Amino acid sequence: MKKLSKVLLGAVAMLSLLALFVAQPVQTASASTKKEYLLVMGHGAGDPGARGNGNTEANLLRKKLLPHLEKYAKKVKKSKIVFYNPKHNMVTDTRKGGGSHKVKKTTSVIMFHFDASTSRYANGGHVIICHRKPNTREKKMAAVIKKYVGLNKAYNGYSYRTDLKNCNVLRRRGIDFSLVETGFITNKRDYQQINKHIDKIAKGYIEAITGETVK
Ligand SMILES: [Zn+2]
Repeated sequence: MKKLSKVLLGAVAMLSLLALFVAQPVQTASASTKKEYLLVMGHGAGDPGARGNGNTEANLLRKKLLPHLEKYAKKVKKSKIVFYNPKHNMVTDTRKGGGSHKVKKTTSVIMFHFDASTSRYANGGHVIICHRKPNTREKKMAAVIKKYVGLNKAYNGYSYRTDLKNCNVLRRRGIDFSLVETGFITNKRDYQQINKHIDKIAKGYIEAITGETVK
C-alpha cells in the first residue's frame, strides 16, 4: 500500500507538471497572436494644436474623443489596443529619439487629428494614408467620416503625403500607420457633427481599425 500511494503521488506530481507545460505555451501563444494597435491623440504636452469653436485640437482629442475610443477599445477580443500616453506629444517625442522610433515593428499606428483653416468654410475630414493607395482600414475610416461628418472635397477621402516627420519615421521603419483628420475644428458644422456623433465615430473607428464588430 505504501509503495502504491508513493507511485500514485508521483503520478499526480508528473501530471501537474505536464499540465503546467501544456497550459503555459497555449496562454503565451494566444496573447502574442493578438494584433497590436497604437492609437495616438495628436499634439498635447503644451502644444494645443489647432484652435476653433472655442476649443483646442489637443483638448477635443483627449477630453472628447479619447474616452469614447477607450470605451470601445475594451470591447475588442482579437486585437490589442494601446493608447499613447495622452500627457505626451508623439511628434516631440519622435524629435527627441523616442515616439515613432520606439514603436514595435509589428504594431499598427493610428494617429488622430482635427484639421484647421483660416477659412471657416473649409470642411470635411480625410485620412492620410500609409501607401499610395488606401488599405481596407483607411477605406473604412473614411467611410466613418463620410457618414458622420462628411469628406473634404479636395481630398475626396484620402491624402498621400510624405512631408510629415512622424509618418516618415514610421514609413522608413516599415511600420503600418494611418493619420485621421476627422473634420475641421475651425468649421462650425464639422464641430457640431463631431460632438453630436462622437460616440458613433469612435465605435466606427475601432471597428474599422480592428475589423471586429463591437457592441
Ligand atoms: Zn493636428
